[in-house]
Amino acid sequence: MSKTAVYPGSFDPITNGHIDLVYRALKIFDKVTIAVLVNTKKEPLFSLKERMEIIQDVFKGEDRIKVDYFEGLLIDYLKKHNYNIVIRGLRAVSDFELEFQMALTNRKLYPDFETFFMVPAINYTFLNSSVIKEIYRFGGRAPDLVPPAVEKYLKNKFDR
Ligand code: ADP
Repeated sequence: MSKTAVYPGSFDPITNGHIDLVYRALKIFDKVTIAVLVNTKKEPLFSLKERMEIIQDVFKGEDRIKVDYFEGLLIDYLKKHNYNIVIRGLRAVSDFELEFQMALTNRKLYPDFETFFMVPAINYTFLNSSVIKEIYRFGGRAPDLVPPAVEKYLKNKFDR
């Protein structure tokens, strides 16, 4: 039976840090489903449709990677699709507290739930989507931190 891991997040937009984790996960799992969260606490820069389109663009031709979305509780999405493994990234100790709380809360609600924590390449440990948005908003460029497909969407969004 093939094993799928779900990678949930806001991906606003996806960065090389997220991508690094997806490829690492594919060394362990047969498939990865990237599940884009509809309602983020903050208003996202990219709409759900754009965030999914960007990810599809980045992983074009990769048949082991699927892009999906969810709204509401992650465990409801997992149960509905018969998934129980989630991957999350740990960049620094500061990520740990919230991730640990979420992992245990989700397992309390769904006993079969498992969280798989992964660490990115060291050069992506400082990276998050907000940093990328700040750079491109003010005309900066960071081609080492996002793939060309993401740069294209960022430039379209911010270039007048
Ligand atoms: P962010 O935390 O950047 O706002 P997301 O909500 O999209 O991004 O994050 C989804 C998951 O990806 C979280 O587990 C987060 O810790 C992880 N993640 C985000 N950026 C990185 C990175 N640079 N390296 C490894 N994991 C990351």
